[in-house]
Amino acid sequence: MENLIKNEIKRYIRESKENWFEVINDTYYEEPIIKFANGDDPLFTEYKKIIGEHHFTPKEAFELAFGEGSYKGGTVISIVLPINEKTRKSNRAQKEFGSKEWALTRTFGDEVFINGFAKYLENYLSEMGYRTISPHKSEWFKIQKDSSGPTSNWSERHIAYAAGLGTFSINDAFITEKGIAVKLISVVTELKLTPDDRVAKSHTENCLLCSKGICGACIKRCPVGAITKDGHDKIKCYMHVYGKESSKLAESYGGNPKFGSGCGLCQTGVPCEGRNPMKIK
Ligand code: SF4
Ligand code: SF4
Repeated sequence: MENLIKNEIKRYIRESKENWFEVINDTYYEEPIIKFANGDDPLFTEYKKIIGEHHFTPKEAFELAFGEGSYKGGTVISIVLPINEKTRKSNRAQKEFGSKEWALTRTFGDEVFINGFAKYLENYLSEMGYRTISPHKSEWFKIQKDSSGPTSNWSERHIAYAAGLGTFSINDAFITEKGIAVKLISVVTELKLTPDDRVAKSHTENCLLCSKGICGACIKRCPVGAITKDGHDKIKCYMHVYGKESSKLAESYGGNPKFGSGCGLCQTGVPCEGRNPMKIK
């Protein structure tokens, strides 16, 4: 069953018309990595302390969709969608905002393809007889602001960490075996699948600066000084990525001004862009 689901997800991403990006004559996202977490993993409850009470557990997310008492155990399927190398390459030369390819991936890749993909996966598993929801596209999903910046009630990075897909980095992103320039998405299903192991010894193991005290390439790449050796200033970053200038640029590229042109400078032209830098010999 595990392989059947992984293969179906890979097939969908390979063949979906919505994943075709005409500007680069290639797909928005390359072949994904898929892993499973047990919906009852205690880490999901710990997130209430680590992230905040507002962060939902898989049980809570499932029951918001299907009613109290509906959850009897299940799986969180977490998926890494690597941004196409052609798009990443176009962003390497950028100095202030995201390239046209990067910005359009936000509008059409993230919002059109990923929303459609999440819906597809919900339906695919439901038709097999297993109720499934995609938290990211649920009506309760929201990003709120606290004193340290934006925080959501379903953090795809934390979900991916629970599934063993990688670790966090100094710039508050997530480094997988296919690098940091990725999009993450997940669903909660009542189908019980064998969970994958979390092999990382620390929650920041894949970041060279956090693990070995070297690198810091993303610090130099950030145009607004939002990253230091001590961490990431989410508010500074947010103001840049969603500010007026970024919105205007997104519109000029043909994207949605609401999503901004992005930036992603700290995710491109860096050693962790498309691979786990701790594994470079
Ligand atoms: S560029 Fe270097 S310091 Fe920054 S996140 Fe990647 S590995 Fe860590
Ligand atoms: S931290 Fe934010 S503003 Fe700085 S490079 Fe990364 S995405 Fe851009």
